[in-house]
Amino acid sequence: MSRPELIKEGIESISEYVPGRSIDDIAELVGLHPDRIIKLGSNENPLGPSEKAVSAMVRHASDISIYPSADAGELVKALSEYTGLPGSNIVASGPGMDGLIDSLLRLVINPGDRVIISTPTFSYYEIASRACGGVPVFVPRDQDFQVDADAVIDAVTPDTKMIFLCSPNNPSGNLINEVDVKRILESTGGFVFIDEAYVEFADRNLMHLIRDYDNLIIGRTFSKAFGLAGLRIGYGIMPEWLKSQYMKAATPFNVSSAAIAAGIAALSDPEHLRRSIDLVEKGRMFLKENIDFRVHDSHANFVLVDVSPYSASKICSHLLQKGIIVRDCTSFRDAGESLVRITVGKEEQNRKVVEAFADFLNSRET
Ligand SMILES: *Cc1c(COP(=O)(O)O)cnc(C)c1O
Repeated sequence: MSRPELIKEGIESISEYVPGRSIDDIAELVGLHPDRIIKLGSNENPLGPSEKAVSAMVRHASDISIYPSADAGELVKALSEYTGLPGSNIVASGPGMDGLIDSLLRLVINPGDRVIISTPTFSYYEIASRACGGVPVFVPRDQDFQVDADAVIDAVTPDTKMIFLCSPNNPSGNLINEVDVKRILESTGGFVFIDEAYVEFADRNLMHLIRDYDNLIIGRTFSKAFGLAGLRIGYGIMPEWLKSQYMKAATPFNVSSAAIAAGIAALSDPEHLRRSIDLVEKGRMFLKENIDFRVHDSHANFVLVDVSPYSASKICSHLLQKGIIVRDCTSFRDAGESLVRITVGKEEQNRKVVEAFADFLNSRET
C-alpha cells in the first residue's frame, strides 16, 4: 500500500542522488578483499583525517549526553580566524554543506520560484530545490565547462531566487572567473550561491566578494581537503543581514559536539592540510601526464577524463574489475556518456589507475 497523494508536489520529479560506490559493495562484487579496493569515486582525502581531529573527538566523546551550542559558536570563532572574516559573516552547518544548501532554500524558495543551475554540476542543488517546490532552470556550460555567463544572465527573471555556481566545479574541476561572477551577481534580484567545496586545492577563492555584495553566499565543507566527510560539517559565508535570518530557519544544534570539536582541531592542523594539498597537486599532474585520454585541467582533488570514443561505463567497469572505484559521470545532467571523474589518490593508487587505463587501451589495440 502507498499513499503518494500525501507527498507534496515536486518530489515526484526528483531523481535520487547517486552516491559514489562503497568499498564493501565493490569488494563483494569483484571478489577482492576490501583492503585491496581503491576508492577514488567520492573525492575523499586519501590521507584520512588530521590526527588532531581524531583525538579531539575522542577527548569529547563523553560529552555526548549534553547538547552542543545551538549555533556551534566555538567552531564559528575558529572559522573566523581561519578565513579572516568576522563571525557575523559565518555559519557552521550540518549535515555538511548539503545542510547549508537545504536550510538556505527552505529560507528563500516559495513554490514556483526559479533556481538557475549551471550544468554539468553537483546534483544536490537540483534535488534540494525541487524538494522546496523550486523550479530548476538548467544552463549548460560551454565545451570547456566554463560557465556561460551571458546565458545565465539571460535566464534570470524576477522569479529567480537562487543561482548555483560551483567553483572549482564538480565534476570538471575548473574555476569561474571573477568578472563573470560579478556580472551575474549584478544581474539578479536573487542570491548567488558559490560552492567552494574544493577551494583549498585551488590557487584562489571568491571570499573577498562577500564585503561588496549583499546577495552572495559561499558554501564550504570539511568533507574534502580536511578529510572529515563522515562527520558531515560545512560552513557558509554570507552577508551579516542574511545570517540573522538564516539562524531563524536553520535546525538548532545541527552541528554535533563531536563535529564541533573535530572541526576546530582540524583547523588547528595546517600541516595536515598542507600535506593533503601537496599530494593532490602532484597526483593531479601525474594523472594528467600519464592517462592517454584528454584530462581536463583541474583545481580540485579530482580530474575529469574524457574517454571518448569509449563510454564512461565501459572504462568504469574495466577499472572496477581491478578493484578501482572511480565516478562514471553519465548520471550528471548534461555530462554526456564519456566522462569519468577520478579522485586524486596516494601515489601508489594513482599509479594503479594509470596502469588500468593503459591496460584498457592495450586490450583494444590487439
Ligand atoms: C562534496 C560536495 C559537497 C557536499 O559537501 P558536504 O559538506 O559533505 O555535504 C558540496 N558541493 C560539492 C560540489 C561537493 O562535491
